[in-house]
Amino acid sequence: MSWAATERFGARTAPAGLALVQDLVNTHAVERDGEELLLDRPSAQRWLQNAARRWAEVRGRTAPDLALSEAGLRDLLDLRSTVAGLLAVPADQRAEGALADIQVHARAKLVADPQGRVGIEPEGTDGDWLASAVWSEILLAQLTGTWARLKLCREPGCRSAFYDTSRNHSGQWHDVHSCGNINNLRASRSRKKDALQTSPGGL
Ligand SMILES: [Zn+2]
Repeated sequence: MSWAATERFGARTAPAGLALVQDLVNTHAVERDGEELLLDRPSAQRWLQNAARRWAEVRGRTAPDLALSEAGLRDLLDLRSTVAGLLAVPADQRAEGALADIQVHARAKLVADPQGRVGIEPEGTDGDWLASAVWSEILLAQLTGTWARLKLCREPGCRSAFYDTSRNHSGQWHDVHSCGNINNLRASRSRKKDALQTSPGGL
């Protein structure tokens, strides 16, 4: 069992249940590396069931049995774009409330294990369960500080979600060898073009 959407891009996976949030964002299509996984109800259903099982495995819970409706698929796409919008804000600016108009409607339950450790149990069925799980994981990640390390790749043609493990939180690309190199090449071409335009020989 794997985080199927994220692993297509070879992006570093977020810890514990936060990887569910990352996997939702990474269901998007990227021309070079992967197709849209939420294209229609059957494909979205496959992703949802797999992601919910993986989440249950990571969190030590029982996997829910989920069946997505057409309306549920629309909600799923809305949720993905809301979360991607949150991640598109640079991590050091997220506390400033740039996206203060988002609305979250999700129910969750607090549960305690025999040792008294309290956890959050997602509630609801199908797409509602996913929304509950995703917002619960975002809440936990914001409390523990891992949220600031979940970012979108800076390459415009990619925008995949990756977990930044660099020491000073300076990671910008989901993969420095692919997206980082594309960016370096583009920057170097642009520098050469500028040099040609400003040199007398280039006029
Ligand atoms: Zn990338």
